[in-house]
Amino acid sequence: MLYENYEQVVANVKKACERSGRNFQDITIIAVSKTKPLSDVEELISHGVVEFGENKVQEMVDKYEHVSKPVHWHLIGHLQTNKVKYIVDKACLIHSVDSVHLAREIEKEAAKKGVIAKILIEVNIAQEETKFGIREDEVYGLIDAIKDMPHVHVMGLMTIAPFVENPEENRVYFRKMHQLSLDIKSKCIDNIDMNVLSMGMTNDYEIAVEEGATMIRVGTAIFGARNYNI
Ligand SMILES: *Cc1c(COP(=O)(O)O)cnc(C)c1O
Repeated sequence: MLYENYEQVVANVKKACERSGRNFQDITIIAVSKTKPLSDVEELISHGVVEFGENKVQEMVDKYEHVSKPVHWHLIGHLQTNKVKYIVDKACLIHSVDSVHLAREIEKEAAKKGVIAKILIEVNIAQEETKFGIREDEVYGLIDAIKDMPHVHVMGLMTIAPFVENPEENRVYFRKMHQLSLDIKSKCIDNIDMNVLSMGMTNDYEIAVEEGATMIRVGTAIFGARNYNI
């Protein structure tokens, strides 16, 4: 059942790739399992799914420790500095870096554990007050501060687009993100890669793929609606 949902997302991504002349191989689908039981994760793993996303540190660590096979865990939610130490060697990619302060903490904890943490810079591209992430005009400043950190490697950008009725409304934001990542890439800054563009969720992932996403983060369309009251 969950795998059928997953396959439907795959089919939709393939169609979006065809529409926009992209390669399906260039898109990573992250199954966002937040609030869902480990048995749901295991069901997908049994079908070969290996990319999972969680937005809370404790939940990611719990699943990381109890899962039957090693898979890739993406930390996609807001990260508090005091929790960096729990995930810095467990997350394959931290999608939500939005301050020098947080980057410094990741550098410190990654150095302690002898790893290089892969991160994305979270951009609040629509400048919504309720969202984490930095403004577009703050991105170069943050990159400049991170580029000399030996245990932090910037892989690209991430955004959470506004919640809208009609996903077409987000196309403009996805386009802006793509352009921003191309601009940064063209500067060839040491230690800064721009090969990852994490954008698109259940509501708008097809548009995001058409506009250049390389990672989409899909929860509801795979696992069903979340219940936060249990
Ligand atoms: C929950 C979440 C998602 C997945 O949202 P859906 O709409 O259920 O697909 C993606 N990205 C982030 C950062 C999230 O917190």
